[in-house]
Parts: sequence; C-alpha cells; structure tokens
Amino acid sequence: MIDLHESARNALKACGVADAALTGPLPVRTPLTGEELLSVHEADAAETAAAIAAAHAAYLEWRVVPAPVRGALVKTLGRLIGEHKDELATLVTLEAGKIRSEALGEVQEMIDVCDFAVGLSRQLYGRTMPSERPGHRLMETWHPLGVVGVISAFNFPVAVWSWNTAVALVCGDAVVWKPSEKTPLTALACSALLDRAIAEHSAPADLHRVVIGAREVGEALVDSPLVPLVSATGSTRMGREVGPRVAARFGRSLLELGGNNAAVVTPSADLDLTTRAVVFAAAGTAGQRCTTLRRLIVHSSVVDELLGKLTSAYGKLPIGSPLDGDTLVGPLVDAAAYSAMNSALDAARADGGEVLVGGGRRQVAGAEGGYYAEPAIVRMPAQTDVVRTETFAPILYVLTYETFDEAIALHNDVPQGLSSGVFTRDQQEAERFLAADGADCGIVNVNIGTSGAEIGGAFGGEKETGGGRESGSDAWKAYMRRATNTVNASGQLLLAQDVSFV
Ligand code: NAD
Repeated sequence: MIDLHESARNALKACGVADAALTGPLPVRTPLTGEELLSVHEADAAETAAAIAAAHAAYLEWRVVPAPVRGALVKTLGRLIGEHKDELATLVTLEAGKIRSEALGEVQEMIDVCDFAVGLSRQLYGRTMPSERPGHRLMETWHPLGVVGVISAFNFPVAVWSWNTAVALVCGDAVVWKPSEKTPLTALACSALLDRAIAEHSAPADLHRVVIGAREVGEALVDSPLVPLVSATGSTRMGREVGPRVAARFGRSLLELGGNNAAVVTPSADLDLTTRAVVFAAAGTAGQRCTTLRRLIVHSSVVDELLGKLTSAYGKLPIGSPLDGDTLVGPLVDAAAYSAMNSALDAARADGGEVLVGGGRRQVAGAEGGYYAEPAIVRMPAQTDVVRTETFAPILYVLTYETFDEAIALHNDVPQGLSSGVFTRDQQEAERFLAADGADCGIVNVNIGTSGAEIGGAFGGEKETGGGRESGSDAWKAYMRRATNTVNASGQLLLAQDVSFV
C-alpha cells in the first residue's frame, strides 16, 4: 500500500502549497482508510472577516480591469490546473474517495469551465431595446458585483469551486472560498495555483482567499454585508439556514442543494443501454453525487427483466480502494455516511421494501477504517418517506408504474428537483417528459442517466434543491449587477408614457 500521507504531501507541494499551511488543529482524514492524512490551519471569525475585507479591496481594483484582460488570468489558471491534473486528481481521490477516472474527470471539469469563462469574458452581453422616446437610447450594462462567498460540499471538492470562481473572476468579482471541512487539501492546492496565476498577471493578490473551517466560517460569509452573493453548495439543511440569513440582509444567494433524482424506464427502452446508465448513475461515486440516481420508476412490463440485468451488474461491481485501477466503487466519506445508509435501509424494510442486492459493508485489506458499502437495490411497494428523502449513499429504490401519467406523478412527488431522466424510444413519451407538464427538475435528460452533467449547460435544480444555476449558459448573470441605462440625445426632456410635468 502506498504511503497516503506522503502522496498527499507530494501532491500539495507540487501545486505550490507551503508547508506552513499544513500545520494546525484541523485533522484531515482520508475515506480510503479513515486515517489522518495531515492537519491544517483553521480560520476563526476575525480571520474570515479580514479575508473578506481584503478581497473587497481587491475587487475595487479588479472591477475596472477590462473583462477580456480578466479572462487572460482565468486562461492561465486553466493552464496551471492542466499542468497539475495528476496531483489534483490524487488529492481528490485521497480526500473525497473518488476512483481515478472520476477524480481526473472532476479536474477536467475545472479546465473546461476555465475555457468557457475565457470565452465568456468577451461575451458579457447587455441588450439594447428600442426606446419609446425619439432621440433616446435604452440599454443594459452588466457590472461586477463584489465579493462572492463560495461554500462548497465534500463530494465535489474542486469542480464546484471552479464553476463559481472562473466565472466570478471574468465577471470582475473577487472570491472568498470556504471549502468543506472534510476536503481542505484540494482547496489549498487550487488556491495555490490561482495565487500563481494572479501573480503572473500582476492582478490584486487578495482577489481570491480560502478560509478553512466548519460552519462558523461559512456563517461569517453568510452574514457579511461585504459579500453581495453567497453561492452555497451542500445539503438542503444547510440551504435552509443560509438562504433566509442572506435574504435578511438583502444579499443574494445561489443555492445548490440536495437532490433525489429519478429515472423513468418505459416499455420501449433499450434495456442494455438503460442498465449501463443506471449502474453508473446510481452506484458511481458510491452514490455520493447530488445527481446520483436514487429512484427508478419502471413500467411493470419490463421491471423483472431490468432488475435481472441490474442485480447481475451490481453483483459484479468491483468495490475497493480507489487507488486500485479496477475499482469502480470506492468508499463512503465516513462512518456517519454508512450509518445513514443502514438507517435508510432499515426504514425501507419497515415500509415493506425488499433489498434485492447490496447494503453490506465490504472489508478491504489494509483499509479497515474505511467504509466501503455494497451499492443496494431496494424494491419498494410505494414511494414512502424514506424514498422521498435524500440519503447520501448508494441506495436505488425501484417503483413500478402502469401509465406514463402515473410515472410522471411519482417522479415529481418529492421535495427535491435536481436531475431526471427517461429511457424510451417513443418520441411522444420523451417530449412529454421534457414538456411543461413533464419532469419538474432543473436537469431533464432522455436516454441518459441523471449524473455527469457537462459544464456548458446551466447546472442546478428546483424546489428544495434551491433554484440556483451555476456553470454554463447564462449562469454568469448571477455574478453581475445589471444596470438599465436611458441616454437622452434629443436635446428635449421627454417623459416616458407621455407624462407631462413642468
Ligand atoms: P453539508 O451541507 O454538510 O456541507 C456543505 C458545506 O456547507 C460545508 O462547507 C459546510 O461546512 C457548510 N455549512 C454547513 N452548515 C452551514 C451553515 N449553517 N452556514 C454556512 N455554511 C454551512 O453537505 P455535504 O455533506 O458536504 O455534501 C453533501 C450534500 O451536498 C448533499 O445533500 C448533496 O446533494 C449536496 N450537493 C449538492 C450539489 C448541487 O449542485 N446541487 C452539489 C454537490 C453536493
């Protein structure tokens, strides 16, 4: 077994993290073995306030730098991330437990969003509208907003930061990042690379600050009047606390919260394609994606055949250390996650559910402190409370339906609204699923599972998922303020709506 501590230290060093940052009271454990990798410095409220004030001062300089020049900084960031792809992926594996291919994929997502943001830096378009008054021009201009507070979750320790940061930087904002307390090492590595890019471009040094700590540090961001936008990714519980607090000071929040994603499998579905898509979406990342497939709603005529294929595929899933190249399912993040999985399975059984496969803990040699769960499939008689709750573990609940209306009703009858999919070769069903009276999620797919989004689209969901949108499309607008301008070149004072006054 390789020395995980050494491996983490080497990766951090290669990314430019100073040794001084790797001493402190906050222990960082790896889900691979449960052992402590390193310990890091933890910010307190005063340090967080100072970081916010410094970032605000940097923003005041940055906001007047032309957007394409800001884009050049993000281009360098993307290049540096590419040069350190290996080391960053190693840290993602060590801290979040992702298999190599998914860890590399997460780093690739950072590179992709940097590319996207560089292009965006020349496309922060405002509209012009015809004015109702002669000799007048009506238009809108997009301006930088200020300091963006980024709060991120453990399961995407770097991609979510990059979605926010690459876009915020080209929009002329500064960023203060509070990563998950479970994954501070990847944060230190990304931050060191961005510091290098900032220095190369002689941009303000405090344009980006990372503050490591638990919820109190997040709360300091949430309550600061110098943070006009808080972009918070995590559980619905967290969003329920953050949203109202930010709103109370008239700040903006962009919430990316829990999902309880479902796919509908219709009689015409290609069951082999469906099986592969379902196994990746439900068991991949050990069920620890916000977009993980948690509910499968299958037409009664194909349920037995599909379950046969799925249980057979689940039986062959290589579960083990993500450092082993053959592994497809790595560990859960910690003991609490495994205990939550067991409680959910007990509740499902009490509701009449039948566990068809999985649910146990796999012992991995040399990793006795790691929680390696066998992904489970549970056939449920009805969509009970436990099915309507997000359990952040690899449990796939299977329900059956008779009519497509019934399938859509079941699909939408949960509090969350992140991602969804339909497997069908019937165009009418596909179109209905995508329509206004179809799936009620922020992401709606056809013949694709619920997870694995591309950065080009806007990412986010409805209902208790929080309503935020990040990454591609026009998600950038959340990071800027819009000014509507009327310019009078007529030489006369003409009031709108023909109002006459003096
Ligand atoms: P979590 O809610 O426990 O923590 C997320 C972050 O919020 C952490 O940095 C944490 O320190 C911080 N935090 C918690 N309470 C806070 C508070 N009151 N004020 C300020 N900050 C606070 O979530 P987690 O266990 O790290 O991640 C898993 C959850 O995140 C799942 O529910 C998953 O669905 C969700 N998630 C959502 C998305 C999305 O884009 N919708 C993406 C990834 C993860």
